Amino acid sequence: MTTISPDTLPDALGAPAREFISGTHRLLIGAERPEAADGRTFATVDPATGREIAQVSQGGAEDVTRAVVAARTAFAEGPWSSLPASGREQLMLALAQAIEDHDQELAEIESLDNGKPVGLAKYVDVRGAAAHLRYFAGWPTKIEGGVLPVSAPNMLCYTRREAVGVCGQIIPWNFPLLMACWKIGPALAAGCTTILKPAEQTPLSALRLGELALEVGFPPGVLNVLTGDGETGAALVDDPGIDKIAFTGSTAVGREIGAKAGRALKRVTLELGGKSPNVILPDADLDAAIKGSYQAIYFNSGQACNAGSRLFVPAERFDEVMGALAEQADAARLGPGLDPQTQLGPLVSAEQRDRVMSYIDSGREQGAELLAGGETALSDSGGYFVSPTLFSVTSDELRIAREEIFGPVLVASPYDTLEEVARRANESEYGLAAGVWTRDLSSAHRLASMLRAGSVYVNTWGLVDPSAPFGGFKASGIGREHGHDGLDAYLETKTVWTAL
Ligand code: ADP
Ligand code: MG
Repeated sequence: MTTISPDTLPDALGAPAREFISGTHRLLIGAERPEAADGRTFATVDPATGREIAQVSQGGAEDVTRAVVAARTAFAEGPWSSLPASGREQLMLALAQAIEDHDQELAEIESLDNGKPVGLAKYVDVRGAAAHLRYFAGWPTKIEGGVLPVSAPNMLCYTRREAVGVCGQIIPWNFPLLMACWKIGPALAAGCTTILKPAEQTPLSALRLGELALEVGFPPGVLNVLTGDGETGAALVDDPGIDKIAFTGSTAVGREIGAKAGRALKRVTLELGGKSPNVILPDADLDAAIKGSYQAIYFNSGQACNAGSRLFVPAERFDEVMGALAEQADAARLGPGLDPQTQLGPLVSAEQRDRVMSYIDSGREQGAELLAGGETALSDSGGYFVSPTLFSVTSDELRIAREEIFGPVLVASPYDTLEEVARRANESEYGLAAGVWTRDLSSAHRLASMLRAGSVYVNTWGLVDPSAPFGGFKASGIGREHGHDGLDAYLETKTVWTAL
């Protein structure tokens, strides 16, 4: 693998991102930046060229132990534990501001490491990260217990809401900085300390976030960043010093983490995969439905857990909708994320490209009709590009119609009645999101109640907000992030009885 040296980094990178990327990328434990105890490192790669961007420390079990000690010390003693709620609020607001002050730098780091268009990185990931911290900064001063009307006479009984403790937070590579802030926001608001484990494909923005947290005055040990791969994540899950695990990633790994957490009786929240149905009803505003359904799947090159990857279209409108989607897919501009003209970046890794291509091959072999894409693209670049792909299927049993692909592959099929489409939409092990396009209020809300999914979008797709619970039914996860529900996952309730 060829390495990008500082002078061969893409010209589009500004000076701050260039300086950060050219530096060293060691672990962040307490206020220190140690190498991994066993000295191991791994390469993070530019998915638009296949070239190595930087070497990053690969944390192991010994490093996990060290990080847990730092996080436990910060939780139990010292400035974090004695900080009033308003102090947590101020620090979180300062971190949100620092993210905004570094928005261009962070967007460029994210775009280079993940491949996504730099504009998307700036307006969705970076802005969303700051918004999330601002929302959760409002919570510390509003975490209240209650006084309970117990029957025993002369008794004062009240509840306290206390921080769960030391958290291990494991995140994926599709929205690295945003996922980091979705995780740390409620944890910090509750008064927990955390060890954040970014994905091995995209470790850089989390390290920069950890540096910014120290710069704005977070006490050392409150936010630790442990880079590494699945082994590092597993060591974190296994460490007895972790009180709560929060994981976003594949359903396969989520099952394993859930089982381990069950045995150790650790608190756990899981945000996992999806195969989300998107239903166009016969009376829908078709232009809006087509535009929305296109974005629902191809946004972020299909690398979103809530991607609208199964499209159901009334039989009589099917050809018209397919024609419009295929035309738009064929016209998409693929390119490196740092090129401002790019609409669709590469997939995150060679492994992910190969996974997606193997699903495309299986679709072809199982008899799905290919209406757009279906190939790798820009192969001279060395990058991991896959053209936006559209399949038409007549059976829900094909692998591409059942399994999560996590790439720019839409599987569409015709239907005849509302009851039929509701049943087929729900015939999935997943239940993360679902969508309905209609002008009829009654069918919108009938379907919204019939669909078994954590989020239902009516005449839109994929909106998220820090105040709006997000998470999955069925194999799409356990628990909710965002809002009151998201905060609750980081709090324990203590009941105090006092005889008067
Ligand atoms: P993907 O297959 O799309 O990379 P994963 O679920 O494997 O999704 O990865 C999501 C996150 O989980 C990453 O940070 C990864 O390093 C981490 N991870 C992978 N395997 C494990 C594991 N066995 N235990 C804990 N974390 C893991
Ligand atoms: Mg994996």
